[in-house]
Amino acid sequence: MSKSIQTKCFGYPKIGENRELKKALESYWSKKISKEEFIEQVESINYTRIKKQKELGIDLISSNDFSLYDFILDLSTMFGIIPQRFSNLNDDFDLYFSMARGNNDAVACEMTKWFDTNYHYIVPEINENFKIKKNRPLESYKWARETLNIKTVPIITGPFTFIKLAKGYQKKDFARLLFEISNLYNEILKELEENGVQTVQIDEPALVLDIEDKEVEYLVKSYNIIKKDLKHLNIHVQTYYESLSKYDDIVKRLPVNGLGLDFVINNENLENIQKYGFPNDKKLIAGIVSGRDIWKVNYEETIELIDKLIDLTGQKDLIISNSCPLFHLPISLEKEKDNIQPDLIKLLSFADERLNELNILKGIVNKGNAIPYQNIQSIQKTFNNQKVLNDVSEITEDEIGRLARFDYRYQKQLEILNLPLFPSTTIGSYPQTSEVRKARADYRKNLISKKDYDIFIKNKIKEVIKIQEDIGLDVLVHGEFERTDMVEYFGQKLDGFVFTKNGWVQSYGSRCVRPPIIYGDVSRPKKMTVDEVIYAQSLTKKPVKGMITGPVTILNWSFFRKDISKKEIAFQIALALKKEVMDLESAGIQIIQIDEAAFREGMPLKKTKQRDYLDWAVKAFKLTNEDVQAETQIHTHMCYSEFNEIIASIYAMDSDVISIEASRSKGEIIEVFEQLNYNHGIGLGVYDIHSPRVPTVKEIEIIIERSIKVIDNKLFWINPDCGLKTRGYDETFKALGNMVSAAKKARKRYNNITV
Ligand code: GLN
Ligand code: ZN
Repeated sequence: MSKSIQTKCFGYPKIGENRELKKALESYWSKKISKEEFIEQVESINYTRIKKQKELGIDLISSNDFSLYDFILDLSTMFGIIPQRFSNLNDDFDLYFSMARGNNDAVACEMTKWFDTNYHYIVPEINENFKIKKNRPLESYKWARETLNIKTVPIITGPFTFIKLAKGYQKKDFARLLFEISNLYNEILKELEENGVQTVQIDEPALVLDIEDKEVEYLVKSYNIIKKDLKHLNIHVQTYYESLSKYDDIVKRLPVNGLGLDFVINNENLENIQKYGFPNDKKLIAGIVSGRDIWKVNYEETIELIDKLIDLTGQKDLIISNSCPLFHLPISLEKEKDNIQPDLIKLLSFADERLNELNILKGIVNKGNAIPYQNIQSIQKTFNNQKVLNDVSEITEDEIGRLARFDYRYQKQLEILNLPLFPSTTIGSYPQTSEVRKARADYRKNLISKKDYDIFIKNKIKEVIKIQEDIGLDVLVHGEFERTDMVEYFGQKLDGFVFTKNGWVQSYGSRCVRPPIIYGDVSRPKKMTVDEVIYAQSLTKKPVKGMITGPVTILNWSFFRKDISKKEIAFQIALALKKEVMDLESAGIQIIQIDEAAFREGMPLKKTKQRDYLDWAVKAFKLTNEDVQAETQIHTHMCYSEFNEIIASIYAMDSDVISIEASRSKGEIIEVFEQLNYNHGIGLGVYDIHSPRVPTVKEIEIIIERSIKVIDNKLFWINPDCGLKTRGYDETFKALGNMVSAAKKARKRYNNITV
């Protein structure tokens, strides 16, 4: 039988091959370019990315999957979901970027992690006045047709996912809001149809979360509203990151023309098709090349999968696509050729290579082209390290952890550290000014010698220790000037990791990260952080915190191998970090912070899989510090986490102090502690570091007051939400100064009460 499958791509990276979007945004924000110049620059980025997809042979190309900052913020502003505090802003860009980043008068909207990825979206704050301000999918469709002569498939995140991710409403209002907003989607879609759009893709990743039966009813009703009065517009609903929940019910009942499923993440969607079938009236969009991992597709296995899907569905004209948006991948391997070793690079694929893979797969299926020869040996065989494998196999899981109990440890630590009530500290990094970035870049390019670079870093450390002493902070840090990124820095020093030169991935807005690739067994050839921290400690009598990134975060923010389990990789990293922790302790460092900023984001989306993850993640963290003395204080830090469901695990991590983000969620996190008797040290972030806005002493005091109502005074620490590296010095001085003033005032009020 002759087959004619089609290829489709969605969510192609937006940042530009050389992070042009970041540059354009930053120039616009700092008023170096005008609004017109900015628009011109971003249009050119979008033009290039769409053209690339065309050139690489993709049949169905998407539009409206580009965004100036965040696609959820695009939706909120498009539906007029504007918090009151921004209602005075008339310029659409001022409004948009103020919601994202805050301004002098108003705090930014909350930002949180997108599903289990390292992308962050701006959380919609629902109010009741939905109204269409503009039809973005239509605008982008028209733009692509006019400038590139391509009839695209506009993408829009669906109403179910949008309302699920929004806040500011009660659960009982979910259905009502869903139906209300579905009416607006219907209007948007009607306009698309009038303008000649053939197919629209509606992304509903929330359909892979655990969903209740009644939510399926709401979903079906919502899509009946959405498609009302439409004549021929095809609606394709796309799901990803996990298997579709309530498969049987949803595939049969969802009144749409096509359904996209992720066949890469696991076998569950395939198993469900085998078990329940796939309806005749829907097109299957099969996500078969990964949008999230960087390992080259296995052609033989994938062709088998495609054949199976064609057999099962009877669809000879199946659409094959990426498994989830491609923006989780760097753009291209092209620039890595002389950077990554040949026997590894041949195993990899980034976004452009994925498009190629789709094209090759199509050629094999439709034209009978030969399957390319692939000698994908087991990575383990090529890159393993027997010593590491032995060490991991010797871990006795039930015995992981510190011997001394928290109460005993904390008492000892207080005696030695001599800290005041409500100790103040920061999360680790200080502003990474252009001067710091330039020095690092010059060093990388061999423009300055190692010696000069070390002197530069030492001077920065000296400066920042002085600054912290002047401000009056209690626990100091060395500032992390030598680090580009909290994961990259460690990956570069550990064996088993490889680095890209240009493998940038958007984390939020203009912020990009370059995730390392874990390709072999992980070990630590030498000390990684000790020199900088002991230098910092030599300059002050106050304690300086050692600062490392935890095993779970390193794993979650890296691309990792698929031939061994995540747990095993986490344990390998933990054993390597344990050596660093012990070295810091031996060098006289009394407080060591082990950041686990990405602890929660690696959590599986489906509840049934979460327990196993949390179990090994907690163990990996505890492994890193199980051998330190009771007197050594272990801190951890997490940001953007919703803690409700994992608070028991956070507790089980058994760190002496945890600092967490709290200010952006405006105290919601504090409520969690009202229910809970959390009795380890805790620092709730007292101000938002993602905005340049300087918080007043009064504002900080309010948060402190609220917090100590639910947290024991003796255990409460005062710190910002996260590291300060993206901030400028001026605002940082002022903000920290206000924070320390607020801490001192609180100390005065409570000192006599506590002791
Ligand atoms: N120690 C890191 C810093 O301050 C933590 C960053 C983070 O949590 N994302 O930069
Ligand atoms: Zn943080």
